[in-house]
Amino acid sequence: MRHEQPKAVIFDLDDTLYPLRRFVHSGFAAVADHLADTWRVDRREAIGVLARACRGASRGRELQVCVAHFGLSPSIVSALVQVIRLHAPSLRLPRASRFALEALRPDWYIGVVTNGLPDVQARKVDALGLRELVDTVVYANEVGAGDGKPDREPFLEAVRRLGVTTDRAMFVGDDARCDVFGAGQVGMKTVHVTRRGRAHVPACGADATITTLAVLPAIAERLVPDLRWRSYVA
Ligand SMILES: [Mg+2]
Repeated sequence: MRHEQPKAVIFDLDDTLYPLRRFVHSGFAAVADHLADTWRVDRREAIGVLARACRGASRGRELQVCVAHFGLSPSIVSALVQVIRLHAPSLRLPRASRFALEALRPDWYIGVVTNGLPDVQARKVDALGLRELVDTVVYANEVGAGDGKPDREPFLEAVRRLGVTTDRAMFVGDDARCDVFGAGQVGMKTVHVTRRGRAHVPACGADATITTLAVLPAIAERLVPDLRWRSYVA
């Protein structure tokens, strides 16, 4: 049952609710399929080249490396970028994310605010099955000036849609600037999600730092405690 004083947990998407590398590898598989169909290259070899490039110094230039490896024209790279953008990603919501969302659902409104190309982000939301688990998704580049987080407008759009005030909202994200700074400046409580195993993460002013979303329900109750009208009557 919803509380009289509504409250919300709002999440970043990439590297917060699921690991972005899973989308990257899903995209690599789509590129390998395309190269195999169009250029008759070996699909498994293409995936191997892309994955190795991603792990090494060529990270960020995987498509160029792959095209060069097979002696193809660099001019096809832009088509391969489109293949990644347009493919239906194969993604699964991590267990800790599902646990947190399902545990919070009865008492909290739940939102997502994500940067990135809205149609690509929407395909991720669909693939992860998030439509069933959250109340709204704000594609940050579609609101305000279109600059995305950390601008204030995407955060304010989320609380407007959820019908809560910013001091009754908590934002959960992995990016110190886009998520923690951005949400903090509009008055939300902030939770910084850091990668598991990273030894030292510089403090970024978040109200809490966590390495797994599994602990979020307990933290949420502490950061945004229930306000009961009765407390203020006497
Ligand atoms: Mg992120």
